[in-house]
Amino acid sequence: MTVAAVIVAGGSGLRAGGGRPKQYQLIGGRPVIWWTCRAFLEHPSVSHVQPVIGEGHEAMFAEAVTGLDLPLPVIGGSTRQESCRIGIEAVGRHRPSKVLVHDAARPFVSAALIDDVISWLDRFPAAVPGMPVAETLKFAPGGLVSRTVDRASIWTAQTPQGFTYDGILAAYRKAEAEHTQGLTDDASVAEHAGIAISMIMGEPENRKLTTADDIVLADRDMTGRQLQARPDMRVGQGIDVHPFEEGDAVILCGIAIPHARKLKGHSDADVAMHALTDAILGAIGEGDIGTHFPPSDPQWKGAQSRIFLMKAVDLLEARHGIIANADITVLAEAPKVSPHVAAMRAHLAPLLHVDPSRIAIKATTMEKLGAIGRKEGIMAHATVTVRLP
Ligand code: MG
Repeated sequence: MTVAAVIVAGGSGLRAGGGRPKQYQLIGGRPVIWWTCRAFLEHPSVSHVQPVIGEGHEAMFAEAVTGLDLPLPVIGGSTRQESCRIGIEAVGRHRPSKVLVHDAARPFVSAALIDDVISWLDRFPAAVPGMPVAETLKFAPGGLVSRTVDRASIWTAQTPQGFTYDGILAAYRKAEAEHTQGLTDDASVAEHAGIAISMIMGEPENRKLTTADDIVLADRDMTGRQLQARPDMRVGQGIDVHPFEEGDAVILCGIAIPHARKLKGHSDADVAMHALTDAILGAIGEGDIGTHFPPSDPQWKGAQSRIFLMKAVDLLEARHGIIANADITVLAEAPKVSPHVAAMRAHLAPLLHVDPSRIAIKATTMEKLGAIGRKEGIMAHATVTVRLP
């Protein structure tokens, strides 16, 4: 039995603020859509995951799902109905017997709910999870209550909505041929085609993120879940120093700061990023930068230090670890670091998969004492806390 999942991410979702569609905003250090796609990729019964994205979102999507084993996305249409039809047509190449359609903006979908929807499809041609309405419903046109609606048998609909593949494909094609528009979910398309749909119990956590407040709460919730699943806390420390040589800029945490000198080293000599990398490697007992990138190896000459950092993060994440915080101190008489701290934090956050608020970068001089005080080079210290399962 082949089960395909279509992840619908076509919306521009700007109601949530934040300058980008809600499905690309960060919660728990990753874009919303990353969590959603991963939930389906990791599910043992789902064999194919097909994202449907908005036109012009290709680059944003590619960046958001880095590291996930996904096919190229398909580009959706101008309505949700159209985007779903395109996604459902696209998975036809895998000849699925069942298809699930899920909103990208529901990242808290559980494996148990996905299981439930799939197994109900053995008995019904369509299954839709939802929640029975608990509050009293008023019908109030123009703001005046005209009557109380009987809420018995009233449900709100969630996703993933599941269908036998051939049934929903035919229903979408029928709606398209009839030019039926404005069907806001897949179940409406199935209803329109007369398909019997089973309503099954959804989960309150499986909410759709819509507003800016939803994103803030989801960030807190996702972060909390990640931390709770990783009670093993480790601290790592890293120290590095590089001397100056002739040049015109120093690179610190990936940011080039104009200066009369540059730092000398085999790579780009990003002393702060090296200290940070060693701190992460230290926290997980994986040696240091030199272990993984021997300075004797010519291939690392002039290398960007983000390669080293990403290796350390990969090793951490291979053990299902996450970074809880990083605290970096740069010791330098010059150049002045503080004007660049915001840019450095913004640069490091997506590499570490954390919110910038979990990264601290501080700078101090050595009051003209010692080699650093004599402006012979720059030193950096870093402390990192990681959490492991
Ligand atoms: Mg170094």
